[in-house]
Amino acid sequence: MKSLNLKSKMLSLLIMSLALFVGAGAGHANGPTVERLTWAGVKLVLEDTTVFIDAVGTDLWDGNAPEGLAPVTTDTRRNYALITHAHNDHFDAAALKALLGERGYVICHESIAAYVASRGLRVIPAKTFHPVERGGFLFTAVPANDGFGSEQVSWVVSAGGKRMFHGGDTLWHGQFETIGAQLGPIDIAFLPINGAKVTRDPMPETPAVLTPVQAVDAALLLGAKLLVPIHFGWRDPGQYEEVDRPLETLKAVAERRGQAVKHLSPGAVLTGLN
Ligand SMILES: [Zn+2]
Repeated sequence: MKSLNLKSKMLSLLIMSLALFVGAGAGHANGPTVERLTWAGVKLVLEDTTVFIDAVGTDLWDGNAPEGLAPVTTDTRRNYALITHAHNDHFDAAALKALLGERGYVICHESIAAYVASRGLRVIPAKTFHPVERGGFLFTAVPANDGFGSEQVSWVVSAGGKRMFHGGDTLWHGQFETIGAQLGPIDIAFLPINGAKVTRDPMPETPAVLTPVQAVDAALLLGAKLLVPIHFGWRDPGQYEEVDRPLETLKAVAERRGQAVKHLSPGAVLTGLN
């Protein structure tokens, strides 16, 4: 009897381990599909829900969109669009109206909700550090700092056992570690890297957007498994100047600091994470 008991115990342990293993596998398989869009845009799809973050479908670059203008489309029943702030390279009201139709919502920080609504969009306002749950996704607005002094947040988005951070075009601030500690671990951090300086007289030396070096520091403080660079590859001489060779610099610094980086061209889907 004893040996039978032991055998059945071992068998049930084996079955439990297998169930845990299969469960973990299933969780990973349920992560959203991640597509990078043009400039700062990202598209996440999980089952019947699509989530856009800072998606721009209009050609703001006169035919010279950095790495090309990726189509912004959806074929799911539920659609949401997060925006980090209301500048036109992050908030494309016309494109969002077409994407969201009569049933979709823009989710934005409460400080710009009235403005977004005034553009004819349905809005879900969010407070900083107060999660909003919709369509199997959890969205949390977290602090950011805008180079022009406008209202801006970053987003932590969880779905299907994966957690993502989207940094809009924030400049450096002191909240990355707190965000990582409170809402991490982060699987993918989408971070701006162009370190842009913008026209003023005199033109400031201080960048208005994270530089490649700062983006690596931010990813490390967030505890991000992977950094995906966004918001780079365009300059308007004398008006808007990015750092030299942002992507190459990012890769070199990230390698030195032990931070994993994956460059996705607009329209490319992230593979190898699930
Ligand atoms: Zn921007």
